[in-house]
Amino acid sequence: MQTKVVKFGGSSLADAAQFRKAAAIIKAEPERRYVVASAPGKRFSDDIKVTDMLYDCFDLASKKENIDEAFAKIEARYNGIIADLGLDFSLDKEFRKIRMAIEHHAGQDYVASRGEYLNSMILAKFLGFTFVDAESGIFFHSNGTFDDKQTYKALSALLEDVEYAVIPGFYGSMPNGTIKTFSRGGSDVTGAIVARAVHASIYENWTDVSGMLMADPRLVENPKVIEEITYRELRELAYMGATVMHEEAIFPVREACIPINIRNTNSPADPGTMIVPKSDRPVPTVITGVAGRKGFSSITIEKDRMNTEVGFGRKVLGVLEDFGVSFEHTPTGIDTMSVVVSTSSITDCKEALIGRIFRDANADSVTIDDNMALIAIVGRGMVSNKGTAGRAFTAIANRNINIRMIDQGSGENNIIVGVDEDDYTAALQAIYGAFVGEA
Ligand code: ASP
Repeated sequence: MQTKVVKFGGSSLADAAQFRKAAAIIKAEPERRYVVASAPGKRFSDDIKVTDMLYDCFDLASKKENIDEAFAKIEARYNGIIADLGLDFSLDKEFRKIRMAIEHHAGQDYVASRGEYLNSMILAKFLGFTFVDAESGIFFHSNGTFDDKQTYKALSALLEDVEYAVIPGFYGSMPNGTIKTFSRGGSDVTGAIVARAVHASIYENWTDVSGMLMADPRLVENPKVIEEITYRELRELAYMGATVMHEEAIFPVREACIPINIRNTNSPADPGTMIVPKSDRPVPTVITGVAGRKGFSSITIEKDRMNTEVGFGRKVLGVLEDFGVSFEHTPTGIDTMSVVVSTSSITDCKEALIGRIFRDANADSVTIDDNMALIAIVGRGMVSNKGTAGRAFTAIANRNINIRMIDQGSGENNIIVGVDEDDYTAALQAIYGAFVGEA
């Protein structure tokens, strides 16, 4: 039998009704053996996630304030779920232990992690699965980075003889035994780690959307769902701000070539988005997606006969390195070189940076232009379809928008376009419209 790892996000486990949906999904396929659970999320838009309530409790305790009321609200969330599910089960002992730990100034990560811990206990009970604590299977090095070697060894051994288990997301153990969490949204990472540890055939990530969208729905009306995307394309889009899951969750499964399927707990019949190592399936829209971000600046350096000077680029980039500024793109001309960087990375050092480039590269002029937005047009379909760039540029030109920069990745699966920030939305809509239909 194949093994599937399924992770349910906070909104998928926010109350008893959501628990029932999740359980129906899990029980629909016996291959869904390992379940990774988040803490209860929001039930409605103004609701507060249990993780945030726990952080509040921690803050109160560290200011030596009373946590009675704040902690009672957390208990009520869990007790509500237990009662509505009709479970003969009590977390009272756990509540007492956690409460005491908070009052005795337990670490922040320990406190935050209890959201997943308690929710997973309820889910395990409801499903009749074994509760396996992430504390005994996920490990960090003492510098706080993830310890893959120890984790995979321990987790594989831990789950080897457990047929069906619920594992809390978001946290693991430090070498000294204390609890450490991943960054926010980190249950996605736990899911990926578990999938890799048990050599899962697929990692299903159940959330509240029917997959990743081809464009940001705040900018494009009703964008299409991406059916299939490669890890590489996902990285390109995610870098530009398209989010569907925690960025760090891609690495463990990518290395093991395990596909990820983003699914919707509230609409389980939707196929969602498949994230795969490689794909030969043609992309009907040619592009897989488009995403962008504002807040970039271009540093333009001019120097006569720059083209004949060996090492010019190194000198310019060396200055950026000295200032700790990472660069995004470096379009060049015969006697000019531009370096695109994020505006926030140079705000405090603009003048000094210009001065150093002048000096080190012996430049004729150095100027910085802010207010640039970058848009990434991403898609493996571009390699086999001629005229992709032309289509995008014509659509942008037809809206009377000036393109400030163009860069095509050497893998031919992305084209980056720089436009004025004011033109950002219109340019993105134009590109989407050119490939998918008018936005
Ligand atoms: N509960 C944690 C958070 O809210 C982790 C997660 O849900 O993935 O960030």
